[in-house]
Amino acid sequence: MSTRVYDCLKSIAEKIIENKDFLTDLDREIGDADHGVNMARGFQAVIEKVDPEDADIGNALKKTGMTLLSTVGGASGPLYGTAYMEAAKVFAGKTEVNGDDFKAAMEAAIAGIQKRGHAEKGEKTMLDALMPATDVLSEKLAGGASLVDALTDACVAANEGIEFTKTIAATKGRASYLGDRSIGHQDPGATSLTMTLETIRDFLKS
Ligand code: ADP
Ligand code: MG
Repeated sequence: MSTRVYDCLKSIAEKIIENKDFLTDLDREIGDADHGVNMARGFQAVIEKVDPEDADIGNALKKTGMTLLSTVGGASGPLYGTAYMEAAKVFAGKTEVNGDDFKAAMEAAIAGIQKRGHAEKGEKTMLDALMPATDVLSEKLAGGASLVDALTDACVAANEGIEFTKTIAATKGRASYLGDRSIGHQDPGATSLTMTLETIRDFLKS
Protein backbone atom coordinates (compact mmCIF):
# COMPACT_ATOMS: atom_id res chain seq x y z
CA MET A 1 0.00 0.00 0.00
CA SER A 2 1.35 3.41 -0.90
CA THR A 3 0.45 6.64 0.87
CA ARG A 4 -1.72 9.38 -0.63
CA VAL A 5 1.12 11.84 -0.88
CA TYR A 6 3.17 9.30 -2.82
CA ASP A 7 0.23 8.56 -5.12
CA CYS A 8 -0.24 12.28 -5.74
CA LEU A 9 3.44 12.74 -6.60
CA LYS A 10 3.19 9.73 -8.89
CA SER A 11 0.22 11.34 -10.68
CA ILE A 12 2.21 14.55 -11.14
CA ALA A 13 5.14 12.50 -12.48
CA GLU A 14 2.86 10.67 -14.93
CA LYS A 15 1.36 13.97 -16.16
CA ILE A 16 4.80 15.52 -16.70
CA ILE A 17 6.19 12.41 -18.37
CA GLU A 18 3.08 12.18 -20.60
CA ASN A 19 3.63 15.81 -21.64
CA LYS A 20 7.41 15.60 -22.01
CA ASP A 21 7.39 16.28 -25.76
CA PHE A 22 4.79 19.05 -25.50
CA LEU A 23 6.80 20.89 -22.81
CA THR A 24 10.00 20.40 -24.75
CA ASP A 25 8.38 21.72 -27.93
CA LEU A 26 7.24 24.85 -26.06
CA ASP A 27 10.81 25.33 -24.85
CA ARG A 28 12.08 24.81 -28.42
CA GLU A 29 10.15 27.94 -29.45
CA ILE A 30 11.69 30.28 -26.88
CA GLY A 31 14.45 28.35 -25.14
CA ASP A 32 16.71 25.36 -25.65
CA ALA A 33 14.20 22.51 -26.06
CA ASP A 34 14.87 20.76 -22.79
CA HIS A 35 12.09 21.67 -20.33
CA GLY A 36 10.05 18.49 -20.84
CA VAL A 37 13.12 16.29 -20.94
CA ASN A 38 14.49 17.93 -17.77
CA MET A 39 11.23 17.67 -15.85
CA ALA A 40 10.47 14.12 -16.98
CA ARG A 41 13.93 12.98 -15.88
CA GLY A 42 13.43 14.70 -12.53
CA PHE A 43 10.01 13.23 -11.85
CA GLN A 44 11.09 9.76 -12.93
CA ALA A 45 13.75 10.05 -10.21
CA VAL A 46 11.16 11.41 -7.74
CA ILE A 47 8.96 8.31 -8.00
CA GLU A 48 12.02 6.13 -7.51
CA LYS A 49 13.39 8.10 -4.53
CA VAL A 50 10.32 9.05 -2.48
CA ASP A 51 9.36 6.37 0.07
CA PRO A 52 5.87 5.14 -0.95
CA GLU A 53 5.15 4.05 2.62
CA ASP A 54 5.99 7.34 4.40
CA ALA A 55 2.76 9.29 5.00
CA ASP A 56 4.60 12.41 6.24
CA ILE A 57 3.83 14.94 3.50
CA GLY A 58 6.76 17.11 4.59
CA ASN A 59 9.22 14.23 4.14
CA ALA A 60 7.82 13.38 0.71
CA LEU A 61 7.94 16.99 -0.52
CA LYS A 62 11.44 17.50 0.86
CA LYS A 63 12.70 14.39 -0.93
CA THR A 64 10.94 15.59 -4.09
CA GLY A 65 12.62 18.99 -3.88
CA MET A 66 16.07 17.52 -3.25
CA THR A 67 15.64 15.06 -6.11
CA LEU A 68 14.49 17.76 -8.54
CA LEU A 69 17.37 19.97 -7.47
CA SER A 70 19.90 17.26 -8.24
CA THR A 71 18.37 15.79 -11.40
CA VAL A 72 16.46 18.42 -13.39
CA GLY A 73 19.21 20.91 -14.21
CA GLY A 74 18.63 24.14 -16.11
CA ALA A 75 16.82 27.05 -14.48
CA SER A 76 13.76 25.04 -13.59
CA GLY A 77 15.58 22.40 -11.50
CA PRO A 78 16.68 24.72 -8.70
CA LEU A 79 13.42 26.69 -8.93
CA TYR A 80 11.07 23.69 -8.71
CA GLY A 81 13.43 22.08 -6.19
CA THR A 82 13.24 25.12 -3.94
CA ALA A 83 9.47 25.38 -4.38
CA TYR A 84 8.92 21.82 -3.17
CA MET A 85 11.43 22.17 -0.34
CA GLU A 86 9.78 25.35 0.93
CA ALA A 87 6.33 23.73 0.67
CA ALA A 88 7.76 20.77 2.60
CA LYS A 89 8.41 22.98 5.62
CA VAL A 90 4.69 23.83 5.86
CA PHE A 91 3.77 20.13 5.82
CA ALA A 92 6.51 18.89 8.17
CA GLY A 93 5.08 16.08 10.32
CA LYS A 94 1.62 16.30 8.67
CA THR A 95 -0.26 13.50 6.96
CA GLU A 96 -3.37 15.47 5.92
CA VAL A 97 -3.90 18.48 3.66
CA ASN A 98 -6.15 21.41 4.53
CA GLY A 99 -6.80 24.71 2.77
CA ASP A 100 -4.73 26.87 5.09
CA ASP A 101 -1.67 24.66 4.77
CA PHE A 102 -2.09 24.35 1.01
CA LYS A 103 -2.25 28.12 0.69
CA ALA A 104 0.77 28.55 2.98
CA ALA A 105 2.69 26.00 0.91
CA MET A 106 1.91 27.86 -2.34
CA GLU A 107 3.02 31.13 -0.76
CA ALA A 108 6.19 29.49 0.54
CA ALA A 109 6.87 28.07 -2.93
CA ILE A 110 6.50 31.53 -4.49
CA ALA A 111 8.85 33.05 -1.91
CA GLY A 112 11.42 30.32 -2.58
CA ILE A 113 11.21 30.74 -6.37
CA GLN A 114 11.57 34.51 -6.04
CA LYS A 115 14.49 34.25 -3.63
CA ARG A 116 16.37 32.10 -6.13
CA GLY A 117 15.26 33.53 -9.45
CA HIS A 118 14.49 37.18 -8.60
CA ALA A 119 11.51 37.25 -10.96
CA GLU A 120 8.33 39.25 -10.46
CA LYS A 121 4.90 38.72 -11.96
CA GLY A 122 4.83 39.61 -15.67
CA GLU A 123 8.29 38.35 -16.63
CA LYS A 124 6.97 35.29 -18.52
CA THR A 125 7.88 32.58 -16.02
CA MET A 126 6.21 29.88 -13.96
CA LEU A 127 5.29 32.64 -11.50
CA ASP A 128 2.76 33.99 -14.00
CA ALA A 129 0.74 30.84 -13.39
CA LEU A 130 1.56 30.28 -9.72
CA MET A 131 1.00 33.82 -8.42
CA PRO A 132 -2.50 34.43 -9.82
CA ALA A 133 -3.45 30.85 -8.86
CA THR A 134 -2.37 31.52 -5.29
CA ASP A 135 -4.25 34.83 -5.17
CA VAL A 136 -7.46 33.16 -6.32
CA LEU A 137 -6.99 30.22 -3.96
CA SER A 138 -6.56 32.59 -1.00
CA GLU A 139 -9.58 34.65 -2.00
CA LYS A 140 -11.82 31.59 -2.43
CA LEU A 141 -10.69 30.00 0.83
CA ALA A 142 -11.32 33.28 2.64
CA GLY A 143 -14.84 33.24 1.18
CA GLY A 144 -15.46 29.81 2.70
CA ALA A 145 -14.81 27.57 -0.33
CA SER A 146 -13.46 24.05 0.14
CA LEU A 147 -9.87 23.36 -0.88
CA VAL A 148 -10.98 21.44 -3.98
CA ASP A 149 -13.31 24.24 -5.09
CA ALA A 150 -10.70 26.93 -4.38
CA LEU A 151 -8.07 24.94 -6.24
CA THR A 152 -10.43 24.44 -9.17
CA ASP A 153 -10.75 28.22 -9.51
CA ALA A 154 -7.01 28.59 -8.95
CA CYS A 155 -6.41 26.29 -11.93
CA VAL A 156 -8.59 28.54 -14.11
CA ALA A 157 -6.39 31.47 -13.01
CA ALA A 158 -3.23 29.47 -13.76
CA ASN A 159 -4.51 28.76 -17.27
CA GLU A 160 -5.28 32.45 -17.73
CA GLY A 161 -1.71 33.01 -16.56
CA ILE A 162 -0.46 30.77 -19.37
CA GLU A 163 -2.51 32.81 -21.86
CA PHE A 164 -1.03 36.00 -20.38
CA THR A 165 2.52 34.69 -20.93
CA LYS A 166 1.76 34.55 -24.66
CA THR A 167 1.18 38.30 -24.71
CA ILE A 168 4.40 39.42 -23.03
CA ALA A 169 8.13 39.32 -23.68
CA ALA A 170 10.36 37.30 -21.35
CA THR A 171 12.64 39.34 -19.14
CA LYS A 172 14.00 36.44 -17.06
CA GLY A 173 15.56 33.13 -18.00
CA ARG A 174 16.78 31.90 -21.36
CA ALA A 175 13.70 33.19 -23.25
CA SER A 176 14.73 36.76 -22.33
CA TYR A 177 17.56 36.46 -24.90
CA LEU A 178 14.84 36.61 -27.57
CA GLY A 179 13.39 39.87 -26.30
CA ASP A 180 10.16 40.74 -28.13
CA ARG A 181 10.52 37.64 -30.31
CA SER A 182 9.34 35.64 -27.30
CA ILE A 183 5.89 37.30 -27.60
CA GLY A 184 3.27 34.94 -29.01
CA HIS A 185 4.66 31.86 -27.29
CA GLN A 186 3.44 30.38 -24.02
CA ASP A 187 5.94 29.87 -21.25
CA PRO A 188 6.97 26.24 -20.70
CA GLY A 189 7.46 26.66 -16.94
CA ALA A 190 4.03 28.29 -16.49
CA THR A 191 2.63 25.32 -18.43
CA SER A 192 4.29 22.61 -16.30
CA LEU A 193 3.30 24.50 -13.16
CA THR A 194 -0.35 24.61 -14.27
CA MET A 195 -0.26 20.88 -15.08
CA THR A 196 1.03 20.27 -11.56
CA LEU A 197 -1.82 22.22 -9.96
CA GLU A 198 -4.42 20.53 -12.18
CA THR A 199 -3.10 17.11 -11.26
CA ILE A 200 -3.26 17.93 -7.54
CA ARG A 201 -6.82 19.24 -8.03
CA ASP A 202 -7.88 16.02 -9.75
CA PHE A 203 -6.11 13.96 -7.11
CA LEU A 204 -7.77 15.76 -4.18
CA LYS A 205 -11.16 15.31 -5.86
CA SER A 206 -10.67 11.56 -6.08
P1 ADP B 1 16.50 26.42 -18.92
O1 ADP B 1 15.82 27.70 -19.27
O2 ADP B 1 17.70 26.60 -18.08
O3 ADP B 1 16.73 25.56 -20.13
P2 ADP B 1 14.10 24.91 -18.39
O4 ADP B 1 13.92 24.91 -19.88
O5 ADP B 1 13.97 23.58 -17.73
O6 ADP B 1 15.46 25.60 -17.98
O7 ADP B 1 12.99 25.86 -17.72
C1 ADP B 1 12.58 27.06 -18.31
C2 ADP B 1 11.48 27.66 -17.47
O8 ADP B 1 12.01 28.12 -16.23
C3 ADP B 1 10.86 28.90 -18.08
O9 ADP B 1 9.82 28.55 -18.95
C4 ADP B 1 10.38 29.71 -16.88
O10 ADP B 1 9.05 29.40 -16.54
C5 ADP B 1 11.27 29.21 -15.77
N1 ADP B 1 12.18 30.27 -15.32
C6 ADP B 1 13.33 30.65 -15.90
N2 ADP B 1 13.92 31.63 -15.18
C7 ADP B 1 13.10 31.88 -14.12
C8 ADP B 1 13.14 32.76 -12.99
N3 ADP B 1 14.16 33.60 -12.81
N4 ADP B 1 12.12 32.73 -12.10
C9 ADP B 1 11.08 31.88 -12.28
N5 ADP B 1 11.00 31.02 -13.31
C10 ADP B 1 11.98 31.01 -14.21
MG1 MG C 1 15.20 25.04 -21.40
